[in-house]
Amino acid sequence: MKLQKILSLLFVLTVISFPVIAQKTVSTINRDNQTSAIAGTILAKDSNKTETFNFSDIHMCFDQYPNVNIPQKPLYKPPVLPPRLNQNGELYYPNTTEQALSNVPTLCWNPGDILTVGFYRNEGTDIVINKVKKYAKEWETVANIKFLFVDDVNNALIKCGFVKGHGSWSWIGRTAIGNILKERTMNFGWFDDNTPDVDVRRTVLHEFGHVLGFIHEHLSPLANRIPWIKPKVYAYFAGPPNNWTREQVDQYIFYKYSNSYVNSTSYDKTSIMHYFFPSSLTSDGSSFSQNDNLSTMDKIYAAYIYPFPPKITGSSGTLHTGDDCDAIDFKLEFFPGLDSNFIEFIFQPGVDPWNEKVTWWKQIGIPMKGGIEAPIQLRPDGRSELVRLPVNNIDFTRQISFSKAKILGLHTLLPFKWNALSAMKGGCRLTLTWKQDRCQKIF
Ligand SMILES: [Zn+2]
Repeated sequence: MKLQKILSLLFVLTVISFPVIAQKTVSTINRDNQTSAIAGTILAKDSNKTETFNFSDIHMCFDQYPNVNIPQKPLYKPPVLPPRLNQNGELYYPNTTEQALSNVPTLCWNPGDILTVGFYRNEGTDIVINKVKKYAKEWETVANIKFLFVDDVNNALIKCGFVKGHGSWSWIGRTAIGNILKERTMNFGWFDDNTPDVDVRRTVLHEFGHVLGFIHEHLSPLANRIPWIKPKVYAYFAGPPNNWTREQVDQYIFYKYSNSYVNSTSYDKTSIMHYFFPSSLTSDGSSFSQNDNLSTMDKIYAAYIYPFPPKITGSSGTLHTGDDCDAIDFKLEFFPGLDSNFIEFIFQPGVDPWNEKVTWWKQIGIPMKGGIEAPIQLRPDGRSELVRLPVNNIDFTRQISFSKAKILGLHTLLPFKWNALSAMKGGCRLTLTWKQDRCQKIF
């Protein structure tokens, strides 16, 4: 199976991969091979030009692709939205953009998915847990995804622990579904109540980025122009606590995902998903700073991968019945405050080009189920009318009719029909202002 093949390849290639999560202040952490603090800044150069690195002040994350089976991603059906009205009152169907942050498409969730998150409360304090919740939620503002925090970690898809000395890491995206052994899927290995907010926030944003299926940005297929001084990179990561072999450095640093596995449209070294590297590792001194925030491209692409449904917005314009230079302004508005069981119609007189209020009898007919119409009249005294019609009784397949008093006051049904109801739904308000009903001023 292709998915299994991809997963096992990812597993082999990146069981442990690392963007840098820096921690400036904490230096007392347990450093076995599974853990946390590694390479940071160059301390000094000795006379033999061998660089010495300070491994004490940087924390890195260990991302995990567990070798698990996960079901195929459910087909995503974008929400069906009503058509809109153009300025002439004609219906049109706006294009909605669907879907780049480097990501593994098969491991990304669907837009709108709700992911349950639980914490091993015996490992983390309330202060720390509340900070994790707060910063994880920042993703919700840029991606259409929800983290639902549940009390019992056993009932959570994302199982988050705080085992000191075990580093910070997360399973990638939908691999969490395959967690049949109910293992922890995420760990924060150096948080305590005194960990600076900037460190907590940066690390939480990064790890929850992995939860969303985002990979380390320096492994993007498009990150292939970093002018590494490879011997320095090997030497840098060969130091403790990584003690990486050349092969491991090849895999964790120089390896690039194939375009067929990873969706990536541009390389962003300011991404929260990018490593920090000292500039001395590149021939052009490229600097890879500590990224504390979601970058502009993180925000754009997170919303691209997890698009929000387009907002239903109102529309306005002018109708022309074709009779006697009639001009009727329409305004369609969607109000969160209106009862979604009703559509509100306001029919009102306007002021014509000769500054006279339109007063003669006018009527619109809203088609209702059963072949009838709900008439709404603009009365001769020029008062406006407000009618609320139950959505369930409106026949959205038919069209709105228009009638007016013609010569000798004869109430006349006009041939013009307005095909607009499919652009409406419960909780909206349509205001029609009949602002002209003749071609010339009456003397
Ligand atoms: Zn990571």
